[in-house]
Amino acid sequence: MRATVGLVEITDVSKSYGAVRVLRDVSLTVQPGEVIALIGPSGSGKSTLLRTINHLETVDTGSVTVDGQYIGYELRSGRLHELPEKNVLERRTQIGIVFQNFNLFPHLTALENVVEAPVALKRATKAEAREQAKALLARVGLADKEHHYPRQLSGGQQQRVAIARALALNPKVLLFDEPTSALDPELVGEVLDVIRELSKSGTTLIIVTHEIGFAREVADRVVFLEQGEILEEGTPSQVLSKPRHPRTRDFLRKVL
Ligand code: ADP
Ligand code: MG
Repeated sequence: MRATVGLVEITDVSKSYGAVRVLRDVSLTVQPGEVIALIGPSGSGKSTLLRTINHLETVDTGSVTVDGQYIGYELRSGRLHELPEKNVLERRTQIGIVFQNFNLFPHLTALENVVEAPVALKRATKAEAREQAKALLARVGLADKEHHYPRQLSGGQQQRVAIARALALNPKVLLFDEPTSALDPELVGEVLDVIRELSKSGTTLIIVTHEIGFAREVADRVVFLEQGEILEEGTPSQVLSKPRHPRTRDFLRKVL
């Protein structure tokens, strides 16, 4: 096992669904404050890889740590043992995730959606959590929508609430799984603006995206995944402008 050096350390991760090998010996180190854009064709394993980071997916072999800690396991007598669900939930709070389809609680207002986790986990009093939630909603440009329910908000607004909610537990890393793919084109920009602001603020981000222009602009490193393997990674100009691998070139030709 490699020494743990990165904030997120993915080491030789493989995973299959039945006979289908979805991840093949994937290793990736993400440094604190780094912004990673994870790109690749549909079905290449991007979501699965992202979900292994917070243990929404288990791995068959290999390991994932966040800030030196296994999320779903603990090391005892040199072996990994699965943790009880309760401990997994606790550890998972260090990792924020924003999904394609927002996944807000429909019966809660924007403010209540953001307040919910810190209060449920007893990280803050209700009053503290409300103050913080108001600040987070203001940060994503929704100060005037605190009392709106998700159905009263546009997709772009809902996704911004989801980002505020993910930030409410002050995560060490924030994962985005195609955060703008479900949005009407005219709403994409307002969500990318929020992610751009986060990228400048030193938050560690791993973003699965098909927005290649955006990846070029915000990412410190672009990682190209194909058929469960990292084929190529490097700075945006290396991977997006001078891809070494023919399959990266093929992919970029199709999406650009
Ligand atoms: P991407 O996000 O890059 O489109 P995914 O990680 O969603 O790719 O999927 C990778 C492969 O794993 C695909 O072939 C997909 O059909 C398969 N897959 C994903 N989730 C499951 C699952 N729960 N059961 C079976 N196969 C799955
Ligand atoms: Mg996906």
